Amino acid sequence: MWRNLRILILLLILGIAAYGNWYDRLSTTDWDDMLYIGVFPVDEAGNEVSRDYVARLSDDSVADIEKFLNREAKRYGIAIDRPVSVRLYPPVTEMPPERAAGANALQNMWWSLKVRLYARRASRASGRPPPQIRIFVRYHDPTFTQSVPHSVGMQKGLVGVVHAFADREMTRANNVVIAHEILHTLGASDKYDPETLAPLYPAGYAEPDRQPRYPQSLTEIMAGRFAIDSQTFEMPNTLDEVRVGPETALEIRWTKR
Ligand SMILES: [Zn+2]
Repeated sequence: MWRNLRILILLLILGIAAYGNWYDRLSTTDWDDMLYIGVFPVDEAGNEVSRDYVARLSDDSVADIEKFLNREAKRYGIAIDRPVSVRLYPPVTEMPPERAAGANALQNMWWSLKVRLYARRASRASGRPPPQIRIFVRYHDPTFTQSVPHSVGMQKGLVGVVHAFADREMTRANNVVIAHEILHTLGASDKYDPETLAPLYPAGYAEPDRQPRYPQSLTEIMAGRFAIDSQTFEMPNTLDEVRVGPETALEIRWTKR
């Protein structure tokens, strides 16, 4: 009897979680109403440079993300006026949970659960209505940190954790990474080879039919880099040089099969 009850409760919890994920997926990719996206800065470095950088951030700092997503949505025939709103939220003082390097599947699941709880706490603390998608951006000081850990965007929980640089010269390049992780939360997959970082052909190319193929000058957002030649790949400096490819558009349901 108790055993059956325990199994029933477990099934109920799993059912609620599955329903929640299904509902999130449907409500964020129906493109009938404006989708609210919040960017939450986190002062990772905790020094004068990063504190000053985070303090100077405003809605303007993330405006080109909204412009990019709405421009591309329109190109794929999304009819509403403003498909997404991207707003800056007040800085978050609590640090996001750390993910251990080389974590296994179970540890990753545990980490993503902790991030979801963290996201809920941190967005409540802002005192503003929580956005549907929450992206936490951890700002590093480029003087001390040359390379940052991988950024993550999760469709389950609609949360992203981005590593970025507290440097005004880098703001627009940071926004390319933020846009990439936002699209992961909407169900888009990566379109580069994780070993070589080469954009996958043709899905990871913004202009796959270009003749000659190289050099490409635009980047597919989920490829993250564009190909100068078959061996050289570079990151774009701004979202002006980035496009959403047809495969990504299909994954986030801007288009249907
Ligand atoms: Zn990615």
